[in-house]
Amino acid sequence: MTANPSCDRRSLLDAAGIDKDALAGHLGLPRPLRKSQLALDYGIAFERTVTAQAGAPLVPLLRQALGLTLPEVSYEDVNSVGSDDDKSPLKLRRAHTRSRILSAAHHRSDNPRTLLDHPVLCLTVAGHQVYLEPDVIAFQRDGIFHVVEIKSFPVIHGQPDPIKANAALTQAAAYVLALRELLAGDGLPPEHVSDTVILVNPRNFTRHPTATPFSAHKQIKNLSRHLGRLRRLPEMLDKLPPDTTFDLAPGPDQKPTRPPGELVAALATVRPHYTPGCRHHCDLAFHCRTEARNQGRTAALGTAVRDDLAGIDTIAKALALTDGHLHPSRGQKDLTQALRHAQRIHADLQTDTA
Ligand code: SF4
Repeated sequence: MTANPSCDRRSLLDAAGIDKDALAGHLGLPRPLRKSQLALDYGIAFERTVTAQAGAPLVPLLRQALGLTLPEVSYEDVNSVGSDDDKSPLKLRRAHTRSRILSAAHHRSDNPRTLLDHPVLCLTVAGHQVYLEPDVIAFQRDGIFHVVEIKSFPVIHGQPDPIKANAALTQAAAYVLALRELLAGDGLPPEHVSDTVILVNPRNFTRHPTATPFSAHKQIKNLSRHLGRLRRLPEMLDKLPPDTTFDLAPGPDQKPTRPPGELVAALATVRPHYTPGCRHHCDLAFHCRTEARNQGRTAALGTAVRDDLAGIDTIAKALALTDGHLHPSRGQKDLTQALRHAQRIHADLQTDTA
């Protein structure tokens, strides 16, 4: 969900609990790019290194990133609480996390355990409570909570990969909102959870962790907007033709029996928000890419092109504005001039190379 902050099609499929992997398989779509098992294992190993010995490697990093004083550090693993199991049930861990966070927020203890490993939070999505399991931790400093995310992609010379950093901050934004919801339930203001998220990554190409504060303000805003849209699901459903269904109609052997053409038609009834980045996170990426290309959508050319041509959503419209077949509206005048300028440069280059 956090990877799809503005696609109605995906929102609807998520809200309806559709198995997108099975849907993509039935439509014969290639799978999107996924993390290799090696990368997943490396990520788990890195996280264990950082949180080993009651967070010993993490604490000095946070001291530096947040300027912590000694008494502000206290660690607790919420993975196994009140049971001998390695992993306690989500509900129990959620109750435990809630009590620890609220105790810290209200300064009820001399030793507020605010560095929580494996906490469980709840977020309201389309009217339902969903559990979130950060492998990470909320840290309270001077009464303000910070979300800490441990990620195994490297920070090279102080710079992480911007796409990966954005995805990590979007994920952290969900934890920020869940924490704010928790505090709000106890009458505390949202400002008690900071927009600044601490990303902990390997430094350069080593396994040594480094902690960097990043503003997740934009991601929090986008995700809040998306959650607001999910609250408007009834409106989206109202716009659907009656009898629309994404049900795969599994037979006795659990194999889908619904004709793929019917499912493609059902998908066409909901607005997509395709970008090439979809291939990293959505099982329907190849379907939506073909559709965007067939419709000549500028989004099929990449996020940068789509953003540059904001408001001109098809290639045909961009070309018509450029060659004068379409008169630009007041808001399209600057863009039309830029397109004509680009066309002149293109024509000059072609003349030079001829
Ligand atoms: S691939 Fe399609 S359904 Fe999935 S997020 Fe992108 S546009 Fe939406």
